[in-house]
Amino acid sequence: MQRLSHHHLKCCRQDVASYVSTSATAYITMLRRCIIRFNVVIASITPAMPERRFACASALAEVRPGVPVSREDALQFIRCTDEDLPELLAAAHAAKEQFKLSVITYSRKVFLPLTNLCRDYCGYCTFRRDPGDPGTHTMTPDEVLAVCREGERLGCSEALFSLGDKPELLFPEMRETLRHLGYKSTLHYLEAMCELVLRETSLLPHPNPGLLSAEWVARLAAVSPSMGLMLETTNAALLAPGAAHDNAPDKLPAKRLRTIEEAGKQNVPFTTGLLIGIGESAEDRIDTLLAIRDLHERYGHIQEVIVQNFRAKQSIPMANWPEPTHGEMLRSVAVARLLLPNVNIQAPPNLSAPYYDDLVDAGINDWGGISPLTPDFINPEKPWPHVEQLRLRTEAKGFALRQRLPVYREFIPAVTAKPGLLSEKLGAAATTDGLARRAA
Ligand code: SF4
Repeated sequence: MQRLSHHHLKCCRQDVASYVSTSATAYITMLRRCIIRFNVVIASITPAMPERRFACASALAEVRPGVPVSREDALQFIRCTDEDLPELLAAAHAAKEQFKLSVITYSRKVFLPLTNLCRDYCGYCTFRRDPGDPGTHTMTPDEVLAVCREGERLGCSEALFSLGDKPELLFPEMRETLRHLGYKSTLHYLEAMCELVLRETSLLPHPNPGLLSAEWVARLAAVSPSMGLMLETTNAALLAPGAAHDNAPDKLPAKRLRTIEEAGKQNVPFTTGLLIGIGESAEDRIDTLLAIRDLHERYGHIQEVIVQNFRAKQSIPMANWPEPTHGEMLRSVAVARLLLPNVNIQAPPNLSAPYYDDLVDAGINDWGGISPLTPDFINPEKPWPHVEQLRLRTEAKGFALRQRLPVYREFIPAVTAKPGLLSEKLGAAATTDGLARRAA
């Protein structure tokens, strides 16, 4: 890793001295930050013996810039040893640079939890509420506008709508709230709020409403330049009793794939991704990425793949579930980059804090949405880093930080091609090179 400084190498030698009297596993557990440093120095002072050759070295040697790797190779990479990890990261980093040179982007956003009622009960979710629970809330139009106006003032360009999936199907209280607001369903209300934000502010809506029919993909695409749905996993066994998606009918992978496919048929720029550490295997992670790749090869509409790591919290059914290690996260990001070398890969920095800048080594080209105003309502105990801190750490890795819109620049022409309010607002928000005009 040529990018290591003299200071790092000095640090590594000290680390290795301590390594001598301990085991590799214990070392990594104690000093996760040093996974990369550890391997670099060990490789340089302990020439690899033939029997210690890296298990995936020959596959890595075959990686070609811009060419997606095979399932078989991806499986080797995701199970690579700590000794192989620096080589894997170097390959992923090179693939990222081939895709988008020297820049890491982020979206400056406000987070709008339109309603936290949800008919699903995912084992890792802190966001959802039942009626009557403390903190239950459905935002009013005035609240939506007030947050967006404050976001405008702070240079935001994205209004991210996150909400539970069709709560009115389960809760009469939500039906009553919607009736009071004047809408037939949560999706009708969401559509109206996207349209309100588009009409009244300079922010661009990006809704994340759960499963969508063909009709609803079309309706929301008329009022937002992009939208999202995490595939999370293709492992349907996680809907079994006691598993992460027990009592979460909207998490059936086939249903989620259908929504993503429908967006593809309608040429809607789409964000999706995988959630690691919820009971899936390493093989499942590869198959989830391959399912996304397959849809992207058919429709070309996947604008971004998020690699999100499960974090345990006291208030969730999976409170005692082990979190994926930092090494697992780096491997997953690197493999996502190599399977999808020409797709934007994002990982949220707040979920890998304080060592989130290691994700740059693994091949991300985007930090996702960062809010200067609203907390991460999905992971409220993990605040986003301050944008200035993010900039400094990105620059320290040798990259420029740039503010993008919720829709990535390569997908903007597909949206602006259709005349109307959305096209006008997007045109006004974008610079000539497709980034955010309000860059702060
Ligand atoms: S993760 Fe989404 S679908 Fe699952 S319970 Fe939470 S809000 Fe509902």
